Amino acid sequence: QDRIVVLGAGQAAAQLVQSLRQNGHEGEIVLIGDEPHPPYQRPPLSKKYLMGEVGNDTLELRPSSFYETQSVELHLGVKAEAVDREKKLVKTSGGEEIAYDRLVFATGTRARGLPLAGADLPGVVSLRTIADVDAIRPALEGEGRIAIVGGGYIGLEVAAVARSLGREVTVLEGLDRVMKRVVSPVISDFYQKLHHDNGVDIRLNVAIEAFEGTARVEAVRFADGSRLDCDLVLVAVGAAPNDELAAACGLDVSDGILVDGAGRTSDEAVYAAGDCTRFFSARYGRSIRLESVQNAIDQAKAVAADICGKDVDYDPVPWFWSDQYHVKLQIAGLSQGYDEAITVGDPASGSFYVAYLKDEKLIAVDSINHARSHMMARRAMGESWRDDLLPPA
Ligand code: FAD
Repeated sequence: QDRIVVLGAGQAAAQLVQSLRQNGHEGEIVLIGDEPHPPYQRPPLSKKYLMGEVGNDTLELRPSSFYETQSVELHLGVKAEAVDREKKLVKTSGGEEIAYDRLVFATGTRARGLPLAGADLPGVVSLRTIADVDAIRPALEGEGRIAIVGGGYIGLEVAAVARSLGREVTVLEGLDRVMKRVVSPVISDFYQKLHHDNGVDIRLNVAIEAFEGTARVEAVRFADGSRLDCDLVLVAVGAAPNDELAAACGLDVSDGILVDGAGRTSDEAVYAAGDCTRFFSARYGRSIRLESVQNAIDQAKAVAADICGKDVDYDPVPWFWSDQYHVKLQIAGLSQGYDEAITVGDPASGSFYVAYLKDEKLIAVDSINHARSHMMARRAMGESWRDDLLPPA
């Protein structure tokens, strides 16, 4: 049976291993991951793990015995540096050449940086890995203000944790509302008020010019010349796919490794799954790149099924969640391009949802502390809107 080599040891990789074995794959499986940890979950990194409520032993996606019982060869702390598709070899930072019959890219994303003066000062950080959180946590114990650049999920989740730990927090957002790319104004307003009520200073439409400091960051300087004193800056301005290695070995890449509904790349011996991929969704009529646990798991399942000779055509209803203070946001579907947004329930009550329609059909639902509408929305996606399609508020 084929020897399968997986690049990246994260959420998609862990699922891939499990699904390959469940589908009866008996050949060798090799995981190569550049972090020192076996696959772990990232969502708690900006939530309970950052808060100190759970230790890193709770983050592992599978017990360590799993890789042994499933006969998986783990190469951790090792980076895949080149792929020779003709010879079917992966070259690693350890100087090894690892042969494959089938290769799977599960390399995820990395935090985008900001090309600003001072961005390399100590104290200007991003959050993607256990190591990042372990470096941020001592700074969270400090006294000064924390500046968070970017009012997306990760920025806002960290704002909530830092406030809960008693820190002064300012969120600096370049657009005119938080989470603008993914939610409607009703949801953005709700979150701006939630953070404001919890004492977070949210500033919109800001233009940052530089980070200032000598030994360490001391302030953010804005385009209008004003400054904000702080002793930690979290840059949370989105993620970029780790697709350079795929591009360098000649695979088709365009802001993500291009794959079909079975996770196949432009080389039939090479697949990709998770955050690093981009695929055409017939459901949404365009190519999409998703960054979510749902996608990493379900796309990895599709890849495993295809490798094991089963028919698959992956085109999911994406879903996602975010926890801030005691509020859970659950998103089903993709709302971009909606032509009508219907709010059900009263945002002031703290439990409501927004249904997004396109051509009168349901394309997405954002649920705030309203799990039922989320669960029903995942099944009702694409249906014509009627008042009883989803539960009452
Ligand atoms: P990852 O889990 O990122 O794994 C990829 C691995 O590959 C990494 O360890 C990377 O270092 C490694 N790698 C990259 N290049 C190489 C190489 N050349 N050689 C070896 N190894 C390599 N999603 C949700 O659905 N809900 C949430 O609430 C949520 N919260 C999040 C909070 C944070 C702070 C972060 C960072 C992400 C969050 N996500 C959330 C997103 C979710 O964690 C990702 O979508 C998921 O981890 C993607 O899985 P993946 O396997 O594609 O990539």
